[in-house]
Amino acid sequence: MTQNKKDIATPTRTNQILKKYGLSMKKSLGQNFLVEPNILTKMVAAGEIDYETAVIEIGPGIGALTERLAREAKKVVAFEVDERLRPILKHELADYDQVEIIFQDILQANISEVIAEHFEPEDRIVVAANLPYYITTPIIMNFIESQLPIDTYVMMMQKEVAERMTARPGSKEYGSLTIAIDYYTKAEIAFIVPKTVFVPQPKVDSAVLKLTRRDEPKVQVDNEKLFFSLTRASFQQRRKTFWNNLQSHFGKAEEVKEALRTVLETVGIDGSRRAETLSIEEFAALANEINRNEVLTGTHE
Ligand code: SAM
Repeated sequence: MTQNKKDIATPTRTNQILKKYGLSMKKSLGQNFLVEPNILTKMVAAGEIDYETAVIEIGPGIGALTERLAREAKKVVAFEVDERLRPILKHELADYDQVEIIFQDILQANISEVIAEHFEPEDRIVVAANLPYYITTPIIMNFIESQLPIDTYVMMMQKEVAERMTARPGSKEYGSLTIAIDYYTKAEIAFIVPKTVFVPQPKVDSAVLKLTRRDEPKVQVDNEKLFFSLTRASFQQRRKTFWNNLQSHFGKAEEVKEALRTVLETVGIDGSRRAETLSIEEFAALANEINRNEVLTGTHE
């Protein structure tokens, strides 16, 4: 075992590894490596990761989080897009049989196949990551929109993105992303991470976001495509009223305006409000009403 060695997530060992393999970090791949083991302890605790947990890791880098997961979890399957890391991960994590590294873009991966192949039906599945920040949102949306049996996500990202994902109605961070996250999961910021714990140091602080999958979406929606396109359109121009954004989306023909007035009245929403004041329940009620209105469904793309 590597217990006598320092953790990979320390400045000393990380620098040794970088030097030994002559690795230069690629900014384009969001490569900021974690060099503070306490952060890993807190991530493992936030995700309640133990010997009954099977973990999918995104972007192991040189193995900072992977090494810790290997010690704490039953099984770890990690996806890494950068082939240059193959010899490093192979060698530095050689002691851990329960770690599998797949060299593939996470956005191209067939996760359900991986789950079937590597995990047991009774495993509690957790996704853990210090995410590549340039694709945080697509990665998360791909996962949570799927029907994958993932219980919890514990993921490091830019603090500002975590704040948007957990925002409350009425705040300037609240938007269509908040609603999409809230629809599928319970979201909370587990803790804030200062930028000083990474090599190289990024420009902004980070946060670890914890998402817990809901058994059922938070609100009952008859047409999800319509619901999500409505929420996106509603926040298109944040300074304008909800009514203005609705008209830009559905059109300004008299017939359309009349239909919009009717649905707003039916669900009791005042069009002079701003979208950021609307709750997910109000968006759902409105989307369901629009879905029942032939004039509006005819115009909605
Ligand atoms: N887990 C390591 C740590 O905490 O030190 C590295 C985290 S670093 C912020 C993000 C990692 O994601 C990098 O290793 C990068 O190569 C990898 N990555 C970037 N894009 C990826 C993608 N599309 N699929 C899988 N991994 C990716």
